[in-house]
Formats: sequence, C-alpha cells, structure tokens
Amino acid sequence: MSEEMDVKLEEHKIRIEDYERFVGAETVERIIKKAEPLKGMHVVHVNSTYYGGGVAELLMSLTLMLNKLEIPTGWRIVHGPPDFFNITKKMHNALQGEKIRLTRQKMHIYEEVICENAMRNHLDHDVVMIHDPQPLPMIENYKKKSPWIWRCHIDLSNPDKKLWNYLVKFVEQYDAVVMSIKEYAKKLKVPQVFIMPAIDPFSIKNREMSESEINERLDHHKIPRDLPLIVQISRFDHWKDPKGVIEAFKIARREVDATLVLLGNVATDDPEGEEVYESLLDSREERIMIISREDTALVNALQSRAAVVLQKSLREGFGLTVTEAMWKGTPVVGGNVGGIRHQIEDGVNGFLVSSIEEAAARVIQLLKDKELSAKIGKRARESVRKNFLMSRYLEQHLELYNSFEAIFRLR
Ligand code: UDP
Repeated sequence: MSEEMDVKLEEHKIRIEDYERFVGAETVERIIKKAEPLKGMHVVHVNSTYYGGGVAELLMSLTLMLNKLEIPTGWRIVHGPPDFFNITKKMHNALQGEKIRLTRQKMHIYEEVICENAMRNHLDHDVVMIHDPQPLPMIENYKKKSPWIWRCHIDLSNPDKKLWNYLVKFVEQYDAVVMSIKEYAKKLKVPQVFIMPAIDPFSIKNREMSESEINERLDHHKIPRDLPLIVQISRFDHWKDPKGVIEAFKIARREVDATLVLLGNVATDDPEGEEVYESLLDSREERIMIISREDTALVNALQSRAAVVLQKSLREGFGLTVTEAMWKGTPVVGGNVGGIRHQIEDGVNGFLVSSIEEAAARVIQLLKDKELSAKIGKRARESVRKNFLMSRYLEQHLELYNSFEAIFRLR
C-alpha cells in the first residue's frame, strides 16, 4: 500500500479516551494497557452482512475501535446466491429450535458456497473471528496457522439435534467459541468464552439527540406526536413477534391512548424479511404505523421519545435494541427469553413478559404511572453505562486475543 493510501486513523473521531466520561479514566487506561501487546497484530472478522441486524452493528464499532488501538482489523462478508441464504436462514431458525429438513443437497450448497468464499478470501491473519453459522465451514478450507474463533450470536439452548451434530464437526476445528451468555454453552471439546454484546454511545443511533432533532425526524416520517409512542424496532422476523406486539397494543389501548410504531428493516442475509413485512400490512391503521425504512437517526429518535419500547421477542440471542432504548432512559418491556433476561432485571430497570396479555398490562402500567416509568428509565440508563457499553465489549476482545499470546510468541 502506498503512503498516500494509508488510512488516516487519527481522523476517525472516536477514541477510547472518549469513553472516560462514561466509564472513568481507570477503565480506559486498563483497556489501553491490554491493547499494548497486540499492536500490529492483524485481525479479521467474517460474517454474512454489512448491514441489518445486531452482528453488523457490533462489528461496525468494534473493528473501528481495534484499528484505533493500532490493531489492524478487517471485516469481510461472505457472498452467496439466494439459495445459500435460504439455507442459512433455515439453519438459523433450526438453531433456535425450529425443525429443518437437512438434506444432502442443502449441506452441499452450504459447504460449496463457503469453499468458494474461502478461495477468494485469503485469511492468513493473526486472529480470525468467524461470526454465526453462515461462514462457519470456512475453517475446513484453510491450513490453520493462527487462532480461529467462532463467535455465535444465536440462542443455542435448544437447537435441532441433527443440525447441531452436523455443525459440531466444523465448530470443533476452532480454537475457541464465543457465545453471548452461559446458558448457550454446549458440550464441546473447544474452550467456550461468554461475551455479551454492547452498544456504541457515540454512534448516530445512540448519541443524544435534542428535542428539536427528534421532532424533525418524527415529522419527516409523519409520525404523530400528540399521543405517547409505543415502539418496537426490529428486523421483520417472526422471532421478534410483531403480530404479538400489535395484539398487545390493541389490548392496551382499551385503557390508554397511544400510537404504535413498528419500525423494521430487512438484513441482506435474511430472505424471510419481505414476507414478514407484507404479512403485517393489513394491520395498519391511523394509530398503528408499520414502517420499513433505513434511517438510523429515526431509530434513535423513536427510542428516545417512546413512552415504552417493546421487544417482545420469542427468541433473542441478545437484543441490541433493548440496550439501545435503555441507554436513552426509556422503559423497555422485553420478552422473557435468552439474552433479554440478562439485559433487563424485571421490575427494576424494565419488565420481562411471557405473553401478549402481560405485555399489554405493562404498557398500561407504564403509561399510567409516570413516576414508575421515570424510575425504571433512570435505572435502565445506569445499567447500560455500567455493563453494556462498547468499551467493555472491546476490553473482552482484547483479553481474548491476549489469551492466545503464547501462540503469537511462537510465530
Ligand atoms: N435496526 C435498525 N433499523 C431497523 C431495525 C433494526 O437500525 O429498522 C437495528 C437495531 O437498532 C439494532 C439492530 O438493528 O442495532 C438489531 O439488533 P438486535 O440484536 O436487536 O437483533 P438482530 O437483528 O441481531 O436479531
């Protein structure tokens, strides 16, 4: 690379020191120290989409922060035909407990597409981090010379057995597996590490917006501001239970006046999104808005202004949207599943619910009791500050990479 082409890292605005105001100088110093032995180490992350969904969101910030700490870190995505993504979405669903008909044909397409990706990606980095099932078989196609880590973001507590047995043969070739929470641990020959996701407080999605900026975004999308907003922001995916959200809203509005906004997008690696979106359109009403738009500032505006944010998921490895809303001091009512149970302490900094009726009851309660709502919101923000900011996520990655230090020394 010529000198003129060198990336001017100093021009990227966010530095680890900027986190000091949230996590204190001691934490920042500790992170800088942990990054020291890793300087110059070449890292690569591989997943299946640059856009849409929590994994892309995490990689966006993590890869920049690692580069800022002088750990050159790249981010690649696997490419594939629609067949491939149909299969990997079925796998994703089956890992979360649905059935799959695992045919030879499916396995063949899956492995073949990943083999092609392996040919055009040259992964000779000092650490290779592969995310989720889509690129999992990459490892089969390389002579591994450095640590390879599989990072699974999915709730693995009840996977389809046949599928899991098939995938384990790839998983066990890795040097470590990272999952979001301990409950997802599997019986594996490989060490398992647990790292919960986190949010970037400086991103367009999470930085503080002024009241007028929020109003401008809401007005732009013709979202009425006269009644309290009940909001769910999620990829259009049946695991997020958008229909349950609409039902819960319909029950709640018998007692309280509000507007429901369901904002969603479709990730490029999720072929089911369009269909889920279309299945919701008949539910549209004056006070039930279903919006499919890519507008990060709108996500922020809605999470900031909402009276209640719902994340009524039926499965959720970890819900970034929950943490994003909590950071804005907004009370969140989340499905009592997976990672959300670690994000919300029921009745303390949010509510956990297991049915449509419970969700409706909590919405009513929060709309009626302003004091409770403010108390919950305040605790929500504080719990994110303590536990769910990108600085903690970054630090755990540095620790993980440092744990392979002996291997680096041998190289
Ligand atoms: N998101 C967005 N626009 C949308 C819907 C979702 O920007 O219309 C973002 C959301 O803010 C969050 C991510 O996509 O950062 C979703 O992550 P999460 O962990 O909640 O769920 P996943 O999609 O990974 O299952």
